[in-house]
Amino acid sequence: MPHYQITVIPGDGIGPEVVDSALEVLEQTQAQYGFDLSYITYDFSADLYRRTGRKITSEDMDEIGKTDAVLFGAMGLPDVRGPEGLELGAQVEMRAHYKLFASLRPVKLFNGVPHAIKAEHVDMLVIRETSEGMFAGLHDEHAPSNEEATDRMTITRATCEKLFEVAFAEARARKQRGTPGRVTLLHKSNALRSNVLMEKVFDEVAAKHSDLESSKYYIDAGSMYMVTNPERFDVIVSENIFGDITSEIAAGLVGGLGVAPSADVSLTHGVFQPSHGSAPDIVGTGLANPIAMILSAAMMLDWLGQKNEDENLVQAARGINDAVEQVLAQGPRTPDLGGNGTTDEVTSAMLKALRSLAPSTEPVQA
Ligand code: NAD
Repeated sequence: MPHYQITVIPGDGIGPEVVDSALEVLEQTQAQYGFDLSYITYDFSADLYRRTGRKITSEDMDEIGKTDAVLFGAMGLPDVRGPEGLELGAQVEMRAHYKLFASLRPVKLFNGVPHAIKAEHVDMLVIRETSEGMFAGLHDEHAPSNEEATDRMTITRATCEKLFEVAFAEARARKQRGTPGRVTLLHKSNALRSNVLMEKVFDEVAAKHSDLESSKYYIDAGSMYMVTNPERFDVIVSENIFGDITSEIAAGLVGGLGVAPSADVSLTHGVFQPSHGSAPDIVGTGLANPIAMILSAAMMLDWLGQKNEDENLVQAARGINDAVEQVLAQGPRTPDLGGNGTTDEVTSAMLKALRSLAPSTEPVQA
């Protein structure tokens, strides 16, 4: 049976609570779909840093990088800060270390989830570039000043080419599952030189994928369309800060962070985590919504399946997505989605739904 080694970093706050839930779901899927996962767990967290001063190092990330994927809960506590005054976040360190240039953030309107829009059907993937753009100068030298501060937006052709190839590959895979197969660039080439280059490379890559549709909007108009007419979008791709903001707008449209998974990927490495943070305001109440974490675990299986041509993993990811649809439609749902279910009750419902959706054929033999 194919075996994959997964690094697990539960992190802070509700991170460990939702990770436990996702691990239960993964445990059950293994038996049903025929694959084997083993785990190496690390206790990196803002809390560990506060107690011991220990944080993730380059050597740790070299070790972790030898495993097949990273499953990450959430990290950060608002009052725990490093010497520069910034919060701790191993996710940011890992993005830089593994050169994870694309953050994939699927956004879907599920039946049963209260939402803020009139649209009947929202199913989009927001891809945020995560290695440059408006965050390019994060480690630039700067003299602290009370009068002036500068950030830097840099866009490179090399990253754009990789990013857009990922976007079109995702659109092609999604088209097979019934979406329009369209990639939309959100940009600001009317005012930012960096975005002129980004648009130019987008057009070049789009021309290579003429079997798929492409479109472009300025980020300001595009943000409005996301709210007024989200059905027009399939795959959205954007630079770092525009993608950061638009992905959260999109998540807000369909019920919030509790149903928003994410995957930070390069061509070789992947870190899978919910879009939400450590939610210190609800830690320990048993009311954290585990769905975003569970969907992130499904993204991990799909990514591993595609990368290793292992159809059992791809099917398992679909099984988890189907079970999520069923649970969200029928309940229980946690309070962030207007329900009164607990994390444990949602997890139990997921396991039951997975059993009821068990594949009718034997798993593909490796
Ligand atoms: P947050 O996402 O933790 O919480 C925002 C709001 O959403 C809170 O009201 C919270 O209760 C709610 N919420 C979030 N996830 C939920 C879930 N699964 N179920 C139910 N409700 C949920 O954002 P924040 O409060 O701005 O940040 C808290 C800490 O998390 C900070 O230290 C921040 O730096 C960190 N953070 C970490 C990540 C990450 O690990 N990737 C991402 C964002 C924030």
